[in-house]
Amino acid sequence: MIKATTPLYAVIGDPIAHSLSPLMQNWFIQHFGLDAVYVAFRVCPTELKNAVQGMRALGIQGMNVTVPHKEAVTAWTDEYSSEVTLLGAANTLKNVDGKISAFVTDPYGFIESLSENSARFNQADVLLFGAGGAARSVCYALSRLSVNRIILHDIDDQKTESLLRLCRTNLGLTKTVALKSIADDMNDIIAATPIVINATAIGMHPQENQSVIENVRTINKGHFFYDLIYNPAKTRFLRMAEKAGAVVQSGLDMLIFQGLQSMRIWTGEELKLNHASMQELRTLLTHFLGNHE
Ligand code: NAP
Repeated sequence: MIKATTPLYAVIGDPIAHSLSPLMQNWFIQHFGLDAVYVAFRVCPTELKNAVQGMRALGIQGMNVTVPHKEAVTAWTDEYSSEVTLLGAANTLKNVDGKISAFVTDPYGFIESLSENSARFNQADVLLFGAGGAARSVCYALSRLSVNRIILHDIDDQKTESLLRLCRTNLGLTKTVALKSIADDMNDIIAATPIVINATAIGMHPQENQSVIENVRTINKGHFFYDLIYNPAKTRFLRMAEKAGAVVQSGLDMLIFQGLQSMRIWTGEELKLNHASMQELRTLLTHFLGNHE
């Protein structure tokens, strides 16, 4: 039952109508028996500062922050986790007595989503497509997973350079290299690289017939392909890899675990999901995505 003291959590973004966060976070609230309510607010960029001040004024205890505010919001918060300082972006705010702290849970979502596949990353080479916000979080996660080397490719050279610098200078990934173009040698690169990650939006609904790479002949059952996209559940990139025998994973579990990590930050509780609960939540989210295309 909602009481006068029930904590309020929210997500802010623009647009926000298709966000999965209200569905997922209210599922967590119900599943873990928490006293809280979670809602969504559409906040345009010029209102971002007011939204953070409104969080203070209204005593909203936690907020998720999504596109396009993840970077800009850090200008209006009082404290930052070390990850926010490194990555320059936040997706979770916590309000304690008017002091607002910023966190980024995407790296934790990525790591937790790997489950038993995390062992594959130790000292492995990784090919990463994309150098935007999500790729920065993935690189942070890869540093924690002790990978050997990242091969980075983004069509935007400046973003590639910036992420390359972050990896080499701040994340201890000194062997990181940039791949200027994806040309003829892609078969050789993939033959020598066991883990391939897509952190671009290429292949996302409704552009489901696209993939960052096509016609790669060297994929085999030793490969692990990960796509951060969760709509569709299996992108063209993953379907190509799976057909060639690779182990594949979509971004749905990352989405779940980054959201769960926010709830842990707000409540201070451990909050664990067992296999059956994970399956129930995956089904709920997939069903929602299927009905809101
Ligand atoms: P972003 O900031 O726009 O970054 C994507 C980057 O990929 C951009 O720099 C883009 O360049 C580049 N790119 C576009 N086409 C490319 C290509 N063919 N080859 C290489 N690079 C290319 O987006 P983001 O926020 O990082 O998100 C990326 C994807 O991850 C989205 O699909 C998002 O939904 C997903 N994501 C999933 C989760 C999860 O929990 N599963 C969390 C965060 C994000 P341009 O800007 O020049 O196009």
